[in-house]
Amino acid sequence: MKILKTLFWPDIGENNRIDLFKTFPSIKSFFYTRKNFAYIRTLGDIIFLGLILLGLFGPQEPDRNIMLFLAWGVWWASIVLSWFFLGRMWCAFCPFPGMIRLVHKLKLSLFRPPSKWLKDYGIHLATGLFFLIIWLESTTPLTKSPFYTAIFLISIVTLAGVFGILYREQAWCRFLCPLGRITGVASTMALIEFRPDYKKCATCKGAPCKRGTDKIKPCPVYLGAVAVHNNLNCFICGHCLLLCPNDSPSIYLRSPFREVILNKGKGITCAYVIPFLIGSQFARFLAESEVFTAWANAIYFPPIVLFTILFFWFSLTLIVITKFSASAFKYFEDPLLGRFNLAIAILIPYGFTGELVYRLQYFLKNIGEFLPTLGRQFNIQSLINYYFQIPHSIIQLISILIITLSLFGSLYLIFYFYYRDFEREIPFKRYIHFLVLSTFIYISYVTFILIQSPEKV
Ligand code: SF4
Ligand code: SF4
Repeated sequence: MKILKTLFWPDIGENNRIDLFKTFPSIKSFFYTRKNFAYIRTLGDIIFLGLILLGLFGPQEPDRNIMLFLAWGVWWASIVLSWFFLGRMWCAFCPFPGMIRLVHKLKLSLFRPPSKWLKDYGIHLATGLFFLIIWLESTTPLTKSPFYTAIFLISIVTLAGVFGILYREQAWCRFLCPLGRITGVASTMALIEFRPDYKKCATCKGAPCKRGTDKIKPCPVYLGAVAVHNNLNCFICGHCLLLCPNDSPSIYLRSPFREVILNKGKGITCAYVIPFLIGSQFARFLAESEVFTAWANAIYFPPIVLFTILFFWFSLTLIVITKFSASAFKYFEDPLLGRFNLAIAILIPYGFTGELVYRLQYFLKNIGEFLPTLGRQFNIQSLINYYFQIPHSIIQLISILIITLSLFGSLYLIFYFYYRDFEREIPFKRYIHFLVLSTFIYISYVTFILIQSPEKV
């Protein structure tokens, strides 16, 4: 009952959270036993290395190499699913910074503190890189080629390694990783949060969680529990638990809307990440329909050009619409909070569930081919016949159900802002265009999903 109240009751106050360390001591003991993280990370590194080797040296036909499904189907879908339940915890186990750990261990790093340009421009570069990956995925044979996929993974590990040579701790993960950036923004909608007890921190001398000690390294992303106020950057890796002498940090179950409501679509990255994410999804869904092929043929545009135009058209249109909606609300500045944008806040559920739908569709479309592909790759005849196919209509139904959840989430936010956050001080008519916007986005998603062609999903 308490869990339901925490998740759904319109109360985002600190008292409506469940301290998971107190309620489930086994979770606390899991996080304090640091070997657990080391084991999971090592397992992840081994699987990752296996994927790269399969990509480089395995068969190159997509139906004879399981690495494609594991990388683009299982891995991607798992990361996106983890956004909602585990926040940014994926980053605590991610194999990409493996090279950083190695160069640091070998003392091959300059161990510089992160530079100003990294702090100022890193997040924009990371966001740009993320959308570059989306674009490459949709317009090149990347997801169909084991070799290119392996090269893609190696490039990210190498880039992370270069930043490991330059900087101390994990500058790549904090400032530049494209997956980390989007995972951080998505984690604002997670069901859990890692937070200290700020009262205990107020009396703490030296904040060892941030600075580390002679024996224990500091937080890998220059935070430490004391500096964690949102889910954007903390990996929930629990490393700083051992550094805290006051038993201050804990993990809390919370309302998934808590941070979205507090943040209200504030921040320059939010203002363009969400429109670009939704815009890219509209373009990706549309590219998987016969309509897209018909348009490309009618105007003699190569699909890559048409996709790029649609990607930017949808994204920029959404930026304009959200700006217009924010100004039509008339109240978008707060002396304490600064500038915010409620139109972005109410679209956040769509951005991240839309991504989940896209990844899940790939997974569901290809899961039936997994065992036969494994059989063909390793010559196990008995597996080749285990083929099955999830009907396209079921995939569409699941997709629409998930998107409908974001419609409910978006409506919940609109009514929460009206009733609780602004306490009905702002007339309801000022919220109507948010309702129209949310419904329009929902109908667009449903339309794009319904026109997807079974051959192309
Ligand atoms: S070491 Fe513990 S008490 Fe001190 S600042 Fe960090 S989290 Fe707070
Ligand atoms: S603040 Fe603590 S839990 Fe968060 S990333 Fe840093 S060390 Fe890990």
